[in-house]
Amino acid sequence: MEQSNKITTLLGGGDDGWGIFLKSRRMIDEGIPVIELTVGEHDIRTHPDILKAMHNAAIGGHTGYAMVPGNTDLRQAVATRVQERTGVPTTMDNVLITPGGQSALFSSHLAVCDEGDTALYIDPYYATYPATLRAVGAIPQTIPAHAVDNFQPRAEEIAKHAAGAKSLLINSPNNPTGVVYSRATLNGIADVCRTHDLWLISDEVYDTQIWQGEHICPRALPDMAKRTLVVGSMSKSYAMTGSRIGWIVAPVAVIENLINLATHTTYGVPGFIQDAALYALGRGAPLEVEIAAPFKRRREIAMDVLAGQNVVKHVPCMGAMYLMLDIRATGLTGEGFADALLEAEHIATMPGESFGTSAAGHLRVAMTVNDEAFREALERLVEFAKSLT
Ligand code: PMP
Repeated sequence: MEQSNKITTLLGGGDDGWGIFLKSRRMIDEGIPVIELTVGEHDIRTHPDILKAMHNAAIGGHTGYAMVPGNTDLRQAVATRVQERTGVPTTMDNVLITPGGQSALFSSHLAVCDEGDTALYIDPYYATYPATLRAVGAIPQTIPAHAVDNFQPRAEEIAKHAAGAKSLLINSPNNPTGVVYSRATLNGIADVCRTHDLWLISDEVYDTQIWQGEHICPRALPDMAKRTLVVGSMSKSYAMTGSRIGWIVAPVAVIENLINLATHTTYGVPGFIQDAALYALGRGAPLEVEIAAPFKRRREIAMDVLAGQNVVKHVPCMGAMYLMLDIRATGLTGEGFADALLEAEHIATMPGESFGTSAAGHLRVAMTVNDEAFREALERLVEFAKSLT
């Protein structure tokens, strides 16, 4: 039996760059201790108070079908949060609760792209982006951001590809670079969207992890609310990666259609998970700060370890749980360096090449192991890099 073209070509062929990750997992299975700085997930688990709220909701009977668009109180809580953080008038009719940010990325693109439409996104990119765009039938087109610009995309380069395109996907704070887009960058992006009538899909799943600069939501820029879909998630902000809950904030007419889509795909998010999310959002900023704190500390550790040497440079670590290191001074590719580091030092990192072509010669380091292990790993990484030059 022939499977669909769409599903069999989803990954687009070629190497997805996860070889180092898989190799490190094999080494761990063989009993070799590896410090893993690969996957973007907290080293803490979901807060016990959130789990208690989840448990109480489930025991209390919230285990049946939940409302497909999301429960009214949770949609309202998300709308309030968004309005408070951005100043953009937002009601629950602007909100769809989704099973995580990834599902929201897929649905958002399905809402705005038809089969064969060009969907733009920025390289370096979060690994799932190209296949997500292909899955909705769009044609993915990268726009390079450059190391010399600290990976802030240039509006004129987006404009070059914008004619005839349907949408642009951006992500700030950014995975993999750790960069937060500046107001100038976002103004430039908004200009291109207005000029070329593009939908903007803004992936803001790291919006509570800002170490430098400020998080600006492009939906708040002039005339942008009507063409912007914001993707949010409880995964990173509340260490709820396994709970699979997030949202889309968009124009009411878009949400209405997305509710129809949800009815025919996910059928909503479990009620007890929604209740746990509502509880977490009720705790608000203090809990978000507590959950983000380890990454903020490790960023400081990284600045300390990297100071006073010139072999391993870093992209300004402004947000999210990642540190992007420039190891081009060693003469190796990101892949070559990551592989050699894993072999020699048993430290696993992600080659920049896993995230497109723009971050070649770089490494993404997830700041997701305890402070001592993180400092030790970075110190050994720097010494290893020095030994190559
Ligand atoms: N966007 C980005 C940039 C991410 O890094 C991730 C998770 N690593 C997601 C979206 C999806 O997150 P989730 O589905 O857990 O909300």
